[in-house]
Amino acid sequence: MKKSNKAVFIGGEIYRQAAYGNNHPLTIQRVGPVMDVCRDMGWLDDEAFAESPQASWEELIRFHAPAYVDAVIEADQVGRANAKLRENYGLGTQENPVFTGLYERAATSCGGSIHAAERVLDGGCAYNPAGGTHHGQPAKASGFCYFNDPVLSIYRLLDVGMARVLYLDLDAHHGDGVEYAFADDPRVATISIHEQDRWPHSGTASDPQRNIWNFPVPSGFSDAELRFLMEAAVMPVHAGFSPDAVVVTCGADGLAGDPLSTMNLSNVALWSAVESVRDATMRTVILGGGGYNPWTVTRCWAGLWAVLAGHDVHEPLTGAVAAILGEFESDLVDEEDVLPAWFATIADIPKDTAVRPSIERLALRQAA
Ligand SMILES: [Zn+2]
Repeated sequence: MKKSNKAVFIGGEIYRQAAYGNNHPLTIQRVGPVMDVCRDMGWLDDEAFAESPQASWEELIRFHAPAYVDAVIEADQVGRANAKLRENYGLGTQENPVFTGLYERAATSCGGSIHAAERVLDGGCAYNPAGGTHHGQPAKASGFCYFNDPVLSIYRLLDVGMARVLYLDLDAHHGDGVEYAFADDPRVATISIHEQDRWPHSGTASDPQRNIWNFPVPSGFSDAELRFLMEAAVMPVHAGFSPDAVVVTCGADGLAGDPLSTMNLSNVALWSAVESVRDATMRTVILGGGGYNPWTVTRCWAGLWAVLAGHDVHEPLTGAVAAILGEFESDLVDEEDVLPAWFATIADIPKDTAVRPSIERLALRQAA
């Protein structure tokens, strides 16, 4: 079968609703502005857009414990989590707060990633920026993630007959939930590039026997270093595993300026990494993930869509788009750190630096 360059954007209005509460890093708007920027730039027409379905209870329990799914529903309906739900399921904590519409929102981001899997069966790529909740565990909320949509997307691909699925996680944090879900499933390989010594503190080693590849990278991780790891380690694993489909979590929290990591990537570097995988794969599902600087996450994910759909990401911003970015506010980003360049174009200006020896060693150690 010939590879298709067809791309579909999966989104929804539900993501504009207030969520997580005021003192949470995810209180910022992300998917709404990404949709707006893509439409205002002329990158997203109705033909390429699909409204995200909500995953059903039956779909969620493909991975999650029924009692846990019921607990999320209960917490949402009651509006808070009692001590039992907090203790047993990690719900109602500062990290994973209960808020109005929680269940519908979390189930919709899963429905979008399951739908993305279905949309690529004949080839092409599907993009669900609301997905990428890679820390979700079978019976516990973790790291701002209530369910695990990448796992559900991978299960859908397997369940309809894909023999091998590769998962690539570019978020600044280790994709622990996905790695654990498929650690003993030979049909799935997982690769995670993430900042070392950072929560959840897992993903320190690889286990090639079980198709687990981890690249814990040092602070300041740069464009050249990501390019190096992609070429020297990720693409060789891809070639060796020869996946029928790839699911990518493209968190934007590894970008320079993100308050929750000290990685130093440009959005252009993340796009190229995703592009190289997409170009080598028949079917690609691309998800969002972390990203806590409203300017950099919106520019990254809007530009990612432009790249996937074949639009010119270097066009100057329209006035409407500059206005969208101008309205953002963040408690986590100091005013003097908001760069004028973020309002000029969507693409960052990449800075070229040398690849540090520690990154070269990491690629060698892991590829062995
Ligand atoms: Zn993250």
